[in-house]
Amino acid sequence: MIKINRPPTPDIKVYTEKNQNLSTEERNFLLALLDSQSIQFGSFIPRLQDEQERFTKAEEETLKAIAYYANPENFKDNKKLTSAKAPNFKVYKDPELKELLKATFHKKCAYCESLFLQVSPADIEHFRPKAAINRFVDQKDEKLIYPGYYWLAADWDNLLWSCILCNRKNNLDVPNTVADEFGQTRQALGKKNRFPVLQETLRIRSHNEDLTAEHTHKLILDPCRDNPKEHLFFPLDDEDLGIVKSSIMEDQNPSPKGEASIPVYGLNRTELVLARKQAALDLKSIFLGLLHSLKAFISKQQKQENTDAEEEEFLFQKERFNTKLDAESEYLALKNHLLEEFNQFDLLQQLQLKVEDLIE
Ligand SMILES: [Zn+2]
Repeated sequence: MIKINRPPTPDIKVYTEKNQNLSTEERNFLLALLDSQSIQFGSFIPRLQDEQERFTKAEEETLKAIAYYANPENFKDNKKLTSAKAPNFKVYKDPELKELLKATFHKKCAYCESLFLQVSPADIEHFRPKAAINRFVDQKDEKLIYPGYYWLAADWDNLLWSCILCNRKNNLDVPNTVADEFGQTRQALGKKNRFPVLQETLRIRSHNEDLTAEHTHKLILDPCRDNPKEHLFFPLDDEDLGIVKSSIMEDQNPSPKGEASIPVYGLNRTELVLARKQAALDLKSIFLGLLHSLKAFISKQQKQENTDAEEEEFLFQKERFNTKLDAESEYLALKNHLLEEFNQFDLLQQLQLKVEDLIE
């Protein structure tokens, strides 16, 4: 996982075109559910009172979700009491919105950094689950609490571009797993409705509360808000290459966010570990090729011979190396760890260069 700079909410129709109306009954019901002090929804009160006021698709969907999920007759004490049909969530499936998410995340899964579109569709993932919440990191515990973060279902800042293996629940192999009594080494992995926080009493349960208070208490990494580099670590020894571990923090304990995120997103599923390992080996081999071409180029220069062929080869190798590090490349978090190791290479030191000098 790598840090993603998310642009502000885009000016696309679902967020800008105010062409949705609400009935007087819906408006009155919502006015009773909105707190004028609410940072996110207080400003809707005068708008709901003005019968001429119209709403964007995202606003309408969010208000209808509040009317359904915040109704105490429908949900109470973390339980669902109603059999009435939930309102549809459609804004997150908007084609314009999807394209922008795809570009924001450089076509890669927000969690595992894999490019997957050649074999699978994307999931538009709700970081905070919209309808129900699984509080646990351990996949064996599937008890849900209701409702979810219903008021964030259309919120741009809550949407991520994800592969189906990180986002859905699947039984997958993990390296070095001891078989259970049935000889099974697979583990249930994938986020689904999971959203663990440090303490349940710190969880935000209503649209009227200020969500910023929860950001420091959530237990899983948000690539748009956290810096994954502070919490995840990639060992480079032959045995562990490709595996991700939690960083050791100042208190000498593993990062709690790393410890929770690795199983929740399934970041050590075997096939992903192998893909990361292969990417690391490829980058190393390309980097060595680049250094050798540079050495040949310099050697010819020193002999004052024609260097055209060597220069061409060096520039080709340099471009090849840089292509593996551009924003649309897979597994940059691991590759960034690897670049630090490259700075120790004898050949690079002989050439009195740093890896950074070769990156464009
Ligand atoms: Zn993924």
